Amino acid sequence: MKTTRSSEEYHRAELLFPGGVNSPVRAFRNVKRDPLFIEKGQGAWLFDVDGNRYLDYVGSWGPLLFGHAHPEILNAIHQAAQRGTSFGAPTPGESQLAELIRQFFPSMQMMRFVNSGTEATMSALRLARGFTGRAKFIKFAGCYHGHGDSFLVKAGSGALTFGEPDSAGVTKGTATDTLTATYNNLEEVETLFANNPDQIACVIVEPVVGNMGTVPPQPGYLQGLRKLCDDNKALLIFDEVMTGFRVAKGGAQERFEVKPDLTTLGKIIGGGLPVGAYGGSAEIMQSLSPLGKVYQAGTLSGNPLAVAAGTAMLKLIQDNPGVYEQLEKKGQKLCDGLQLALQKASIPGIVQRVGSMFTLFFTERQTIENLDQVLACDRDKFVKFFNGMLAKEVYLAPSPFEAAFMGAAHSESDIDMTIKAAEEVLLDMARAGK
Ligand SMILES: *Cc1c(COP(=O)(O)O)cnc(C)c1O
Repeated sequence: MKTTRSSEEYHRAELLFPGGVNSPVRAFRNVKRDPLFIEKGQGAWLFDVDGNRYLDYVGSWGPLLFGHAHPEILNAIHQAAQRGTSFGAPTPGESQLAELIRQFFPSMQMMRFVNSGTEATMSALRLARGFTGRAKFIKFAGCYHGHGDSFLVKAGSGALTFGEPDSAGVTKGTATDTLTATYNNLEEVETLFANNPDQIACVIVEPVVGNMGTVPPQPGYLQGLRKLCDDNKALLIFDEVMTGFRVAKGGAQERFEVKPDLTTLGKIIGGGLPVGAYGGSAEIMQSLSPLGKVYQAGTLSGNPLAVAAGTAMLKLIQDNPGVYEQLEKKGQKLCDGLQLALQKASIPGIVQRVGSMFTLFFTERQTIENLDQVLACDRDKFVKFFNGMLAKEVYLAPSPFEAAFMGAAHSESDIDMTIKAAEEVLLDMARAGK
């Protein structure tokens, strides 16, 4: 695999962007190689600037449920662009997308569009604080809610990757209002509520964690959070930026049948363009300006191109009602194959999956339930596995703390190829380890 052009582009970019990238996990530092620069994507495949191709399990980190360059999404963007790219005034397209979202997420009676998942979670937190008149909130170690200051305490994803859970530049004052607990542990949440009576505005959670690798909620956990929030008059926020339209058409709240007070969305609802949304009951949402006292705004919010791409994406979901069942089946087949490949090579590990998001953890454990257990996994093995798979044209997230995403564009033969590659790579690793 020749990657000279990618390396040239990387050196050029290093002079322009810190670490050569515009988002840290793209830098490939975790997997000890230069990042690949991408020329184009088509369906489930990515093509780099050297002309190599890869079966893509990153999918732009979640949004690409129907693969790259889907003709219906491209067409929607093209049509919208011809009418103008931004007006700073309302358009019917925004209501069309919102009506579609509400159909799948009935808990989002009203919503507001923003430009990223980060904006959605920052704004939802401000709204929860404004609505309850309380300052503190609870988040869970390893959950990532974008790069807003208050959330960069025990955050997952890129913030973890660099062994720097708390970012420099986040003040102590900000961090003191952020209370953290262990994911899948209700007792800790109960204790935090008991120790901070009438002070906690909300609990925010990734209902299925994707940002420390795929970690599902234990049975009863989300229901338990719901009850603790109700008992303490705090709001429950499901950050479904990743899980929304991913683990089910109605997200984790449909899959696990728990209704949050506020939901944040992003990724898939933008069809690959920058969009975020947050929403909940009319009562809570009407606390936002111009009706209420919580301020939040955006020059490009509800951007016509982004809204058109998102609408096309959700229509694809609507028109393909079997898609989640197919993803479930394909996900099962792939993950069973990967688990068997681990066994054949006698390398300890488990594959955790919810729908079409999954992670292979190199561990002796039978399940991974929280951040401490994730951090105890074997990272050297991950580096070898990642690079081995890449050499066999399989592109996984370049970090052990991420979920892989499969989409409708991944075919049965793509899955077979992935399993075969994994078997070979793991056997090579086993041999080299002897
Ligand atoms: C990706 C992600 C975010 C942040 O979204 P951006 O669009 O990257 O700002 C927030 N929460 C979760 C759960 C995410 O996966």
